[in-house]
Amino acid sequence: MSPKAQYIRWADEAARAHGIDPGILKALISHESGWKRNARSPAGALGIAQFMPETAKGLGINPLNPKQAIFGAAKYLAGKIKHYGDVRLALASYNAGDGAVKKYGGIPPYAETQNYVKNIMRDAGHYSTSDPQSSTGVEVTTPNAPDMKSLALANLSQMSSQGGHFDPMQGLSNLVDAIAQAGSTTTQVPGTQEAPPGDWGKYVRLKAGADRQGVHTAAGVKQFVGELGASLGRPLTITTGSNHNQYVVGTTRQSDHWTGHAVDISMSGKALTRAGRRALILAGMSPKDAAKVKGGLFNIGGYQIIFNTNEGGNHFNHLHVGLRR
Ligand SMILES: [Zn+2]
Repeated sequence: MSPKAQYIRWADEAARAHGIDPGILKALISHESGWKRNARSPAGALGIAQFMPETAKGLGINPLNPKQAIFGAAKYLAGKIKHYGDVRLALASYNAGDGAVKKYGGIPPYAETQNYVKNIMRDAGHYSTSDPQSSTGVEVTTPNAPDMKSLALANLSQMSSQGGHFDPMQGLSNLVDAIAQAGSTTTQVPGTQEAPPGDWGKYVRLKAGADRQGVHTAAGVKQFVGELGASLGRPLTITTGSNHNQYVVGTTRQSDHWTGHAVDISMSGKALTRAGRRALILAGMSPKDAAKVKGGLFNIGGYQIIFNTNEGGNHFNHLHVGLRR
């Protein structure tokens, strides 16, 4: 088990032990230190949960011991939640201190604290599954190719028993048998996690203008982007609208983007390649095949996926995903 997977497991245990939401605790630790056990801030905060030395002392823990720090953070946060009766105020206090929360009678108006609370509440959802996303990954099942040689032999033996006559129905039946016999292969794609069913809002952001008047992204596209975001472990922003001004009333020049059947997600470089491959896997390509893909235009599993290519425009600065119509 990787160190991070171990930390995530401890965070789940610690949250359960102290009766708090494991998602909140994991998002907090991720924001505090990025899961680095030896993190140090310029202000003097130490370790994976970024405790000030005196706070750690009060909790009786070594802030640089990740297990102690994670359980300490759970205990500390549970105490704050009980005190304030409100998770957001508890988080504000974790970031800015009790004094500041008391002074302003709520979340202090500091940009840092406001963002801290907002981001942790948002990211808590990504961590709601107890399985660490880094260690196992989502299982993808793809059918194996049937053994063509056995199939041909089965057809031949059928023919020879029928005096050289080929019965197409029997041939089809042989093919069905061969496919069933081939079975399927289940592969785990490292670094992926299951999307929580139905809740795409967490993983799909719309840039202002992406949903134009009367044009709304088709549900199937949004769901696909949501699954992709969940599998990458972060929200994706649909940016369609910036450079696809192709809607001309009364003509056939009506871009998929303006009818909601396709969207663009800004990204480039390695992130684009990674997201493109992940999209291909979600659309049905085997992880093994997807790993070899460097880019291109793909019509697969009812989707159109374009990245790292100049086919139909510059797709080096965005991932294009759409429904095939
Ligand atoms: Zn596009």
